Amino acid sequence: MLDYLVRNACLNGENTLVDLAVADGKIVEIAQSIAGEGPSFDAPSFDAAGQLISCGFVESHIHLDKACILDRAKNETGTLQGAISAVANAKSGFTEDDIYARGARVIEKAITEGTNAVRTHVEIDPGIDLAGFNAIKRLKADYAWAMDIEICVFPQEGLFNYPGTEELLRQALDNGADLLGGCPYMDTDPHGQILRLFEMARDYDVDLDFHLDFDLDASWRHLDEVAKQSIAFGWQGRVMIGHVTKLSVLPKPELEDTIAIMRDAGIGLTVLPATDLFLTGRDHDHSVPCGVAPAHKLAAHGVCCTIATNNVLNPFTPYGDCSLSRMANLYANVSQLATEAELENCFAMVSDAPAKLLGRSNKIAVGEAASFIVLPAQSRAQVVSEISRPIWGMKDGRVTFEHPAARLFRP
Ligand SMILES: [Zn+2]
Repeated sequence: MLDYLVRNACLNGENTLVDLAVADGKIVEIAQSIAGEGPSFDAPSFDAAGQLISCGFVESHIHLDKACILDRAKNETGTLQGAISAVANAKSGFTEDDIYARGARVIEKAITEGTNAVRTHVEIDPGIDLAGFNAIKRLKADYAWAMDIEICVFPQEGLFNYPGTEELLRQALDNGADLLGGCPYMDTDPHGQILRLFEMARDYDVDLDFHLDFDLDASWRHLDEVAKQSIAFGWQGRVMIGHVTKLSVLPKPELEDTIAIMRDAGIGLTVLPATDLFLTGRDHDHSVPCGVAPAHKLAAHGVCCTIATNNVLNPFTPYGDCSLSRMANLYANVSQLATEAELENCFAMVSDAPAKLLGRSNKIAVGEAASFIVLPAQSRAQVVSEISRPIWGMKDGRVTFEHPAARLFRP
């Protein structure tokens, strides 16, 4: 007995359209023209009408707890420091219910943009205590029908300079946090923070995800220390670094050396183009550098690279629709990418790579979870070039959203 049928779907790279049969939350058959008769004939269905079917997008780096606060936090300088202090001031007024409501707004936007898994960073310190963490835990439970949420707790305002933070991070890890983030550039002892976070990651057997090297000064960086500790702790393949805008100013030989360091240490890169473009290069009044790390060049050498949203409607990024097809397009545009293979690679950085990072299958095959979206395109490259918006989505066999295509009313 089938629960659902998706008809006439285009699988990436295939010429013939297929139907997908769903039962008990899984794909049970993929073939041309399934179920003309019999009990399955009565199963509810969606006609993809020749459009692309894909696993949902995976958001590898977002901040649900500080989203949608432009009404109460203004970035006076437009810089990273301006954003951090604006949020730090506003944070004293955050409550668990307020964080829940703003996070829910972002999650619902993301669902309708085709995302069905996220890694969210959550700020932990004695000021906010565990309010953000508790709100996100509630969101994780309440939206499990449409979104899998991974919680990365981190000390946004520093670890060694903010006594009590480490104890709270450990409490969060004891109570369901999935991994540990870092922000060494905010610490009075950056190398000390890196070392302590690796020690804690070993204690709890969790992955690490750092905010790192978020400026354009190539004369110093923390990347090498993270690489050194990744190898020392045997944490290769378990460490991501986000932003790393310093990579955008490296000449080719230095960039190649850095790629080799990251490969040897098994470190992946997350680029956050909306934030990186908005905050970096503020000291230039002309010829403003874009500050977006060249992830496609690292990916070409086998480094795990993802593109993500980071912030939505806050002092770090006063924009946001939670669309990962838009974010992939933004990255492609600023990186001057155009070929089918280049655009396909940008799609992979919001789907295949972050799915792997979050330990998810990203296959459409019999036996896999019936979790997918339909995009108005015939290829993954076209999704990036046209910023295709998903028209329908399902998670574990249940339809989660519908966003019908626009219609024209001709005379
Ligand atoms: Zn971030």
